Amino acid sequence: MNYYSLHNKAPKSSFKEAVIKGLAPDKGLYFPETITALEEAFFSSIIDLSREEIAFRVIEQFVSPEIPDDVLKEIIKETIDFDFPIVALDSHISTLELFHGPTMAFKDVGARFMARCLGYFNQHNKEEITVLVATSGDTGGAVAHGFLGVEGVQVVILYPKGKVSDVQEKQLTTLGQNITALEVDGVFDDCQDMVKRAFSDTDLTSQMRLTSANSINVARWLPQMFYFFFAYQQLYKKHNKIVFSVPSGNFGNICAGMMAKKLGLPIHHFIAANNENNVITKFLETQEYSPEPTVATISNAMDVSNPSNFVRIQEIHHQDFKSMSQALSSYSYSDKETEDALKEIKVQYDYIADPHGAIGYLACKEYLKDHKKTHCVFLETAHPAKFLRTVEGVLNVKIALPEQIKQVINKKKVAIAISNYDGLKKFLLSR
Ligand SMILES: *Cc1c(COP(=O)(O)O)cnc(C)c1O
Repeated sequence: MNYYSLHNKAPKSSFKEAVIKGLAPDKGLYFPETITALEEAFFSSIIDLSREEIAFRVIEQFVSPEIPDDVLKEIIKETIDFDFPIVALDSHISTLELFHGPTMAFKDVGARFMARCLGYFNQHNKEEITVLVATSGDTGGAVAHGFLGVEGVQVVILYPKGKVSDVQEKQLTTLGQNITALEVDGVFDDCQDMVKRAFSDTDLTSQMRLTSANSINVARWLPQMFYFFFAYQQLYKKHNKIVFSVPSGNFGNICAGMMAKKLGLPIHHFIAANNENNVITKFLETQEYSPEPTVATISNAMDVSNPSNFVRIQEIHHQDFKSMSQALSSYSYSDKETEDALKEIKVQYDYIADPHGAIGYLACKEYLKDHKKTHCVFLETAHPAKFLRTVEGVLNVKIALPEQIKQVINKKKVAIAISNYDGLKKFLLSR
């Protein structure tokens, strides 16, 4: 498969090149040149397929022939070796739990897939690759875990000081080996800007091979389609108008869902559920795109003011506002509303959500008011124990720590403090 840059000023790339480069040379995001829908028979027999088979059919066209089928099957097997259960809250609302992986957030899927693709592409290459990644919370841990020990790959993670949860911080600062954490005096968008600047800094790119593991990287973004299919497989016999409410920050996850729909998955509608960083909610109302400074919230993984993947959503809809606004709604909520939702979900359904999932739940409820014949699935994008202080504080309960979290919580944090781009550059050049 070839990929083109959404800025249209760079040559087309193979999958391999797109994975290794992350961002195109003209700073545009890569987008697949063709998208071929899966045939009818795939959907009519989906109930009989294993998750591995589904994932293979879904991703095949985007990576073939550069990754041979047998290698791809192995990569898929290792990527999705945990559960993706649907939990019904009532007949109108379900949640898709995406937190059963090693770092307990959906980002494990993309990070593991990408790490294995990059490991495959780099296996006979002597020159090291440096993965540079900005995190608003969960990317860091997922990428650190996914890439740990992958030969020939160094990982440098930038995270905003004091703006990620304790568990998130531990997950990205305690692994060692080929993983380094940089604690940035700033917000997520500062981290993301620094990463983008590094990619276009020829002082750096002439001396090292840099790539990104943010959802701008096609190998992280596209495998996120898998679980929309897994959800459909579990739901389609019971519900015929399935709506996904996706707690959104950089809009990679929801954009993957929209790609799944392009492949023919019968999804009725998408909802981008936002916190107070709501540039897209406003854009859909006014058609004016005006990012504002990032606000820190209790759903910190969505504290993004200028979501990178939105340009891909526009491309999927051929830059047509009307078609996009028919496929997508967006609502946004304050921290207070999020806390109230956590309580409501606990009281009404005896279910403990995390703050991101709670926003997805609120958006489902809002949409269902006017669309009573649909079934809304909100994505539980992380385990509530990752946001222990918030969730325990709001609900006044004790959450049992899952094994994955127990393993990191008492380890010692190791991070290098930096305050600006020069700090990053100095660090990269000093190694
Ligand atoms: C990353 C993240 C999000 C936002 O996902 P995007 O793909 O960036 O929109 C939502 N919730 C959690 C828990 C996350 O880690």
